[in-house]
Amino acid sequence: MSILTLENLTKTFGGLMAVDHVSFSVKEGEIFGLIGPNGSGKTTIFNLINHYYTVTEGKIFFQGIDITHKHTHEIAQLGIGRTFQKVKPLKRLTVEDNVMAGAFARETTFAGARAVAQDVLKFCHLDDVKNMKAGSLPIGGRKRLEIAKALATRPKLILLDETAAGLNPGELDEAIDIIKKIRDELGITVLIVEHIMKVIMTLSDRIHAIAHGATIAEGTPAEVAKNPLVIESYLGSDYNVENYLNA
Ligand code: ADP
Ligand code: MG
Repeated sequence: MSILTLENLTKTFGGLMAVDHVSFSVKEGEIFGLIGPNGSGKTTIFNLINHYYTVTEGKIFFQGIDITHKHTHEIAQLGIGRTFQKVKPLKRLTVEDNVMAGAFARETTFAGARAVAQDVLKFCHLDDVKNMKAGSLPIGGRKRLEIAKALATRPKLILLDETAAGLNPGELDEAIDIIKKIRDELGITVLIVEHIMKVIMTLSDRIHAIAHGATIAEGTPAEVAKNPLVIESYLGSDYNVENYLNA
C-alpha cells in the first residue's frame, strides 16, 4: 500500500521551474531514495510535502488523504516527520531539551515528552551527551540530533535530507545502521535524500532520480545506477555500478 503519493508535483520560483511535474509513490515500510544533482529540486520536494512551500501545481496524498493544502503542523500531526539539510538545533538548549521540543509536537505532558525523548536519545546514540548544549555537539552528533528531533514527533513517515553529509566513515556506518533500524525496528517508512552512494545504494528498496526538477529514472538501486540518464546527469561516466552496490 502506498503511504505517500506525489502527482505531477510542480513548484516554480518566478521563472524557475524547481520541481517539474514529478510523480512517485512510496510504499508503506519502504526505504525510498530520492537522488539528483545539486539544485535539482530534492529539498524543494521535501518543503512541498511539509507545506513549507506552497504547491504550484499537482497533488500530495498521505495515507490516501489529500494533504496538498494542509498546514505544516497538521501534516506533522498526521505523521510526517523530517530533518533539515541545514541542521538547526536550538544551540543553547541541551540535546535532551531539543529532542523534547520535538516530542511536544504530539505529547501533551512533560512526563510523556520526557519518556519519548529518553527512548529516542538511546535509539540515536545520544544518551551519553544528552546534557550537552546542542551547539557544542560535533557534526556527527548534530546530524543524529536532527534525526532524533524528527523521531520524537513519532512519525509514520520520515523525510531525511542529507543526514549523512559530512560524516566520517565510522559515523557513516552508524548512520546507516540507525536508518535501517528506523524502518526495521520502529516500522517507520523512510524517504531519503542523500549524495553518498554507499548510503543510498545500500539502504534504498527503490530510487527515484531527478534532474532539473524533472524525473529521469525510477527503479531498484541496480536499475537506476545503470540508467544512462542518471549516469550522464548525476553519477558520471567513470562510475562502477558494482562499487556502489557493494560499498
Ligand atoms: P536540491 O535539494 O536538489 O539541491 P533545491 O530543492 O534546494 O535543490 O533547489 C532547487 C532549485 O530551486 C534551485 O535552483 C534553488 O536555487 C531553487 N530554490 C529553492 N528554494 C528556493 C526559494 N525559496 N526561492 C527561490 N529559489 C529557490
Ligand atoms: Mg537539498
